[in-house]
Amino acid sequence: MQNESLDLESLDLGVLGMLELGFMQKLECFAFQKTEQSIKIALRDSVQKELLAFHLDKKFANLRVEFYQIQDFDFFYQRALLQAEFWLLCENLKAKLALLQTNTYKNPNTQEGLEDSKEVKRLLDFILQEAIDSQSSDIHIELHTQNALVRKRIDGILQKSFVLEKNLFAVLSSRLKLQCNIDMTENRKALDGRFSQTFQDKEFDFRFSSVPTISGESLVIRILPKDIEVLELENLGFDTERLQIITSTLYKGSGVVILVGPTGCGKSTTLHAMLKSSQSSHKKILTIEDPIEYQVDSLTQILLNEQYDFGFNQALRSALRQDPDVMMIGEIRDLATLELAFQSALTGHLVLTTLHANNCLGALDRILGLGGKVDILASSLSLIIAQRLVRRLCKHCSIKASEGFYKEYKNGLYMGLIEQLQLDQKNLWRSVGCKHCQGYGFKGRIMINELLLNNESLSTFLRDQKKDLQDIKMFPMDVDAKNLLESGQSSIDEVHRVWW
Ligand SMILES: [Zn+2]
Repeated sequence: MQNESLDLESLDLGVLGMLELGFMQKLECFAFQKTEQSIKIALRDSVQKELLAFHLDKKFANLRVEFYQIQDFDFFYQRALLQAEFWLLCENLKAKLALLQTNTYKNPNTQEGLEDSKEVKRLLDFILQEAIDSQSSDIHIELHTQNALVRKRIDGILQKSFVLEKNLFAVLSSRLKLQCNIDMTENRKALDGRFSQTFQDKEFDFRFSSVPTISGESLVIRILPKDIEVLELENLGFDTERLQIITSTLYKGSGVVILVGPTGCGKSTTLHAMLKSSQSSHKKILTIEDPIEYQVDSLTQILLNEQYDFGFNQALRSALRQDPDVMMIGEIRDLATLELAFQSALTGHLVLTTLHANNCLGALDRILGLGGKVDILASSLSLIIAQRLVRRLCKHCSIKASEGFYKEYKNGLYMGLIEQLQLDQKNLWRSVGCKHCQGYGFKGRIMINELLLNNESLSTFLRDQKKDLQDIKMFPMDVDAKNLLESGQSSIDEVHRVWW
């Protein structure tokens, strides 16, 4: 028997789950490669080889069956069982579809009624459960010319989950729309919806979006666990000095604190940790966000309802009449919101919010670009925090990079970053990949951040644009990134990808 090491990314998921589930469980085997002439089978125990050969020769009469022993057998075997289970659910749905179509004489292509069947519900639940189990934030289901691909986002990166037959995609899409209570026949325009469901005693909200594409339709489901534990500010990854600045800013009880960074960089986590640390029974904390990502009892979380003409801007206008001490505004998108946030701060409220910008100076530009007044900005801004989430190197497989590694790697693409951070090339690490990290080389994420504190020199800088940028009190991202890299917690390519 030959040995082989597999790579999950390059495996055909269809082949991985092509043997019958019961058979795979009984004989502890799976298929991993199939050509026109041969099929490659991995098995745990060579004792089973004879029995397996007997069954498989019958099943694949015109193929040469080859047996292999695989490194990390258990990891791939579990993935293969998952695929086989998925295929079984697909087969059941296909059978139901065929039955429905033979019984419908008028329209043999009908799928009507199928979206309410237990078969499609089971298939969708399986996809959702698998994504929840692997701690995904989103599920993407896209229709392509041949078939549909199901992927999930883990730690910011998309990974393949399943391949779905084209005709089942339509049923799944209708099922999702039914679950969201929106028009299931509509696939020519963008649709949004949401639904809630319990998985293993935990409640989840799912936010659904569908847009028409050139090959059909793209579906995205955001997974929002209902009671996520809000983290303590101390545990987010700010160093002692920065943490102290943030804490004393919040303690002051007035001013605007702005968080910036791209989507998915953990802004709401930090925002809610800040709210948690400002909480007291003597304060009213009001939040206006769309959607509400965390439900917290001790906050007054305004519920928006566009259908009744109570949107973001209407809520903002009512917010101040609610006599809050602290306000959290999900995002500043326009001048009206910006002015309200800064005016509230001037009248003694603490306002926490986010803004679309890459870094702290970019945030200042954006505020002025939206039409913000320099005077008000200078007197009511407290602090800007820019942040990124960097994937953490897997502690089971990461290794120290040899000294010339990054110099050679991708034609020296990373040398600029190495020079800027003045990194010691003897101290850099790199990813490898193993069963603990599903072959990706990374597991979990860490935050790096940049702080810009409003003080005398920033106010002067803002009022008098000629002043030197050097005088501004900035705590740069560089320091955080350098620490992370030289302590082997992340790799150059990862920091380059998310920040530089
Ligand atoms: Zn690993």
